[in-house]
Amino acid sequence: MIIGVLVQLSNKNIDKVFDYSVPSELQDMIKIGIRVEVPFGKQVLEGFVLEIKDSSDLAVKDIISVKDEEVILNDELLELGKRIQSDTLATLISCYQVMLPKALKAKQGNVINKKFDTFYYLGDVNISDLKLNDSQQRIVDLVLEKGKVLRKEIVDISLSSVNTLEKKGILVSEKTEHYRLSYSDEKVEKFPLTSDQENVVNEVILDKHDVYLLHGVTGSGKTEVYMELIEKVIDEGKTSIVLVPEISLTPQMVKRFQNRFGDKIAALHSALNDGEKYDEWRRIVRREASIVIGARSAIFAPLENIGLIIIDEEHSDSYKQTDTNPRYSAKDIAIIRGEHYNCPVIMGSATPSLEVMARAQKGVYKYLSLPNRVNGKSLPSVEIIDMNQSMGRMRGHFSETLIKSIEEILEKDEQIILFLNRRGYSSFVTCKNCGHTFKCPHCDITLTYHKSSNTMRCHYCGYGTKVYEVCPECNEKSLNNLGVGTQKVEEELNNLFPNARVLRMDFDTTSRKGMHEEMINSFKNHEYDILLGTQIVTKGLDFSNVTLVGVINADTSLNIPDFRSSENTFSLLSQVAGRSGRSSKTGKVVIQTYNPDHYAISFAKNHDYLGFYNKEMEIRRILKYPPFYYLCFIRISGKDPNYIFGEANKIKRSLDRNLLHTSILGPSTCSVFKVNNVYRYGIILKYKKEDNLKVILEKILDHYKSNSNIKIDIDFNPSQIG
Ligand code: ADP
Ligand code: ZN
Repeated sequence: MIIGVLVQLSNKNIDKVFDYSVPSELQDMIKIGIRVEVPFGKQVLEGFVLEIKDSSDLAVKDIISVKDEEVILNDELLELGKRIQSDTLATLISCYQVMLPKALKAKQGNVINKKFDTFYYLGDVNISDLKLNDSQQRIVDLVLEKGKVLRKEIVDISLSSVNTLEKKGILVSEKTEHYRLSYSDEKVEKFPLTSDQENVVNEVILDKHDVYLLHGVTGSGKTEVYMELIEKVIDEGKTSIVLVPEISLTPQMVKRFQNRFGDKIAALHSALNDGEKYDEWRRIVRREASIVIGARSAIFAPLENIGLIIIDEEHSDSYKQTDTNPRYSAKDIAIIRGEHYNCPVIMGSATPSLEVMARAQKGVYKYLSLPNRVNGKSLPSVEIIDMNQSMGRMRGHFSETLIKSIEEILEKDEQIILFLNRRGYSSFVTCKNCGHTFKCPHCDITLTYHKSSNTMRCHYCGYGTKVYEVCPECNEKSLNNLGVGTQKVEEELNNLFPNARVLRMDFDTTSRKGMHEEMINSFKNHEYDILLGTQIVTKGLDFSNVTLVGVINADTSLNIPDFRSSENTFSLLSQVAGRSGRSSKTGKVVIQTYNPDHYAISFAKNHDYLGFYNKEMEIRRILKYPPFYYLCFIRISGKDPNYIFGEANKIKRSLDRNLLHTSILGPSTCSVFKVNNVYRYGIILKYKKEDNLKVILEKILDHYKSNSNIKIDIDFNPSQIG
């Protein structure tokens, strides 16, 4: 028996199937899609069995061992990997690895094992005949009473007695696999759907592949629609995937699913440790879980018989993998899997991405709409504060209007969310005398000031240094840290409203596992009056008592040099505004900005998605951006900037010669030119249809694949450029 093995080493030079022979004693265990260990040069590597055949033209070596009993990659996932490879031009092995929990990827250092529980029950003995000492008697009584007892419970009584009893055959043990996470099976009663929700549910045709856009304003009850459809799918014995932008930020959403579906849910949190992830993955493979909820990579959940895929907050850029290969979009994968299983894919959002909305308008996707809030209330009224006008009358970061609004809400004993927009923004240290700022010596990026440790850190490579006393440039003692941190705003709040209870939530305060959820619960229970936070507070929160949302600084995300900055700002403001007035109480929003006339802000004020969409589409058309053109970003990086720049120009010339229907921009320095002493140039391609593109790019990758001085990364439909 000969097998074709793809080894777990992502390198374009060896990214192909190698033949191995299988010793006769291992042949029975061989299946396509399991892992085996093989000799590879001087190393021993793990790889996936992709082919089984009778003979090979080459001299082949024996495999060393078989790693799995169960198939790790089924036929569907094996095909999917090939498709991703041809769509992204990444290595095939990286396309398989991205589907698997870390525990199954080769040699990650620590071996992650299954965990077991040991139970004891009574052996086949006549109890009245036994002569037992005290502790033995207590153990036997306990087992008699319960029938089956967890090892831990009786070891607590006496370990030696347990051992004696087991030796005598009075106790018999049994091991069962123990998953690291547990779920309650307690279910909560569901709401009757509103007629709007009912209509949407009825418009979705199950058993047929279509892509739907569910465009529903914040609080319109999209989640309830998802759950209703999932219930139908589950009743038919099928399975379902639900993607959310960042699962650790959406505990309320996960909770709602768990309340409704109990232990049918597998939740692939990023906060799970590797062992927990591995357990969840195996629960899915064993069909013990039929609904998977998770962030981007949950789209690869090894479910079979999928009946519905849901992508909530479809506009979120977290669905695109940008930093490593394969640079895939979970939305594309959802559609490929949806085609395979002939099932619907639903993308939901209050502020759909332009790409998805444009397809819905063309009829490529089916458009579903929930234009009203479930509570029948209108969306909260939004007041824009022009900070240029308020200059001089601000108290710290707070305008008079915002202060007054907060006071009113506090008086009514209602709650407030304050949002500090930190997208593309950070605190940094600068010299008031000479303007010197501190940059990372390895990366071309400003160091971020961390108050708690009084250090400056690089958010790219982790470099850190103490904050200096004097400026290294002019030797003046006039260093100053600029920028709004949540801690600073918290201090101001404490001064302005000494009686208000303020809860600060950002990535610093929520790093401990479970902390985020605890904070959300305590805010929900009204142990705090004001929730102050960064992006964390814009997503999926549903508090009935919040009637004021304040945006302290709307602008930072507008200033990012990215063609999507208006879209991102509009959607961010709409989302955060949507946290206000979600129950019977009417909500209000106050947005502070230096750009009150910017269309992203004025359309957000009026909750005018379509207005924004039309305006932004016009700009994209003129500037040849998506959704009118496709983009492809090529990053060329290496340690020697001159060499890299030279090669980047060669690549550009070759693209010019070969791509006749594409505009080619660059090479130019990336928005961060240097990271970890590696210099980066970018080339941007804009095209509508370019049949040759993949072939040409593949040739370029091939040309450089053995050159260790240069690295080429290709990102189709990038979520950001640079
Ligand atoms: P969205 O996901 O569109 O923001 P949600 O599904 O979170 O909206 O619904 C908003 C609020 O309305 C939630 O508190 C939810 O529990 C409630 N809700 C949703 N559907 C109904 C319904 N049919 N009847 C009563 N309350 C509902
Ligand atoms: Zn750095």
